[in-house]
Amino acid sequence: MKFGGTSVADLERIHNVARHVKREHDAGHEVAVVVSAMAGKTNELVSWVNQMPTVTGSNAPFFDAREYDSIVASGEQVTSGLLAIALQSMGIDARSWLGWQIPLQTNNAHGAARIEDIDGGEIIERMGAGQVAVVAGFQGIAPDNRIATLGRGGSDTSAVALAAGIKADRCDIYTDVDGVYTTDPRVAPSAQRLDRVSFEEMLEMASLGAKVLQVRSVELAMVHGVRLFVRSSFDDPDATDSAAGANPPGTLICDEDEIVEQQIVTGIAYAKDEAQISLRRVADKPGVAAAVFSPLAEAHVNVDMIVQNVSEDGSVTDMTFTVPDGDLGKAKKVLEAAQGDIGYEVVQSDPGMVKVSVIGIGMRSHAGVASTAFQALADKGVNIRAITTSEIKISILIDSDYAELAVRTLHSAYGLDKEAA
Ligand code: ASP
Ligand code: MG
Repeated sequence: MKFGGTSVADLERIHNVARHVKREHDAGHEVAVVVSAMAGKTNELVSWVNQMPTVTGSNAPFFDAREYDSIVASGEQVTSGLLAIALQSMGIDARSWLGWQIPLQTNNAHGAARIEDIDGGEIIERMGAGQVAVVAGFQGIAPDNRIATLGRGGSDTSAVALAAGIKADRCDIYTDVDGVYTTDPRVAPSAQRLDRVSFEEMLEMASLGAKVLQVRSVELAMVHGVRLFVRSSFDDPDATDSAAGANPPGTLICDEDEIVEQQIVTGIAYAKDEAQISLRRVADKPGVAAAVFSPLAEAHVNVDMIVQNVSEDGSVTDMTFTVPDGDLGKAKKVLEAAQGDIGYEVVQSDPGMVKVSVIGIGMRSHAGVASTAFQALADKGVNIRAITTSEIKISILIDSDYAELAVRTLHSAYGLDKEAA
């Protein structure tokens, strides 16, 4: 069971979480719990670090990442201890675990560490004896013997890794929404909760802007086959006894074999703050794409959609691609510096683009899925700037003014709207 920041936002919410845990424990399950810091706590800790002066005289612009980790990991230390006490007060044997006590081993990339190994041995033994393990998410121990954090939103990844490490039957992610929706309900009120989503689709949705789960946690769940169940901690803790066979509302993220009625399109995701860059009149010869994208990669600019036109006469072509808005200035500098090597005539850029994506594994076996999107957008007068596709998704770049209209239009075009009550 994993509980996010809003689920442990204050002492009352922590007691509520304890009741959810008690329900599963009383139903005879062996339970490990992973918690986030109280809502807003990690942001506060990060801002404290950012207000500290850096070493004068050094040319290091940043603070010591090991100290950053030691500070920002503390929020989870507090909630894990408080939840253990809340459980004890209900007569449940429970104890808290910090990353190093398990141990959950990471690499040395402080601030955005990756999990290398997790030793579930002692936790499994104690769970077998009826003890509930309450684990601080977001943290582990690095080879340098220092605390390491997993990147923002990392407690989802902690939970999935722990579930894999102790061979759990399921990993229930409790959050402030009751599942994964066909699209963002704030944009399209006709969005519906999905009963089941495949790992692959969820990975696309999370990468493309659905904020329910950290992308890396979905990758890890897919690799280890950890079934995830996303549900709300705001449901009445006593109303849904999983042992009694009641089905609490939520979304199961699982292997596609477990999904019997596969829709062609599962959801519409969108990602804001994209910028479009076009290089005009680039020489059409081998090595040009490498000349464009190698220096961008070296500057750690994350390039996303790439479109290259076929040239009319084989001499020059246009190259269009997208980068995050925040990287646009850097990307332009890099391209200007490389103009001689690349040999383009002008670089044009447009910030404030939105990428809207249609996702569904059913696309693999159906024709005409993309044309439905193009026709629906055309009918609404939405201009498409770039398109990319993969086996299970179609991504379309449009002006941000049209983002909401496009999401709603595509949601209806693929029959995802819930029926009016
Ligand atoms: N507390 C951490 C964060 O806010 C980790 C998490 O909640 O997943 O990023
Ligand atoms: Mg989170």
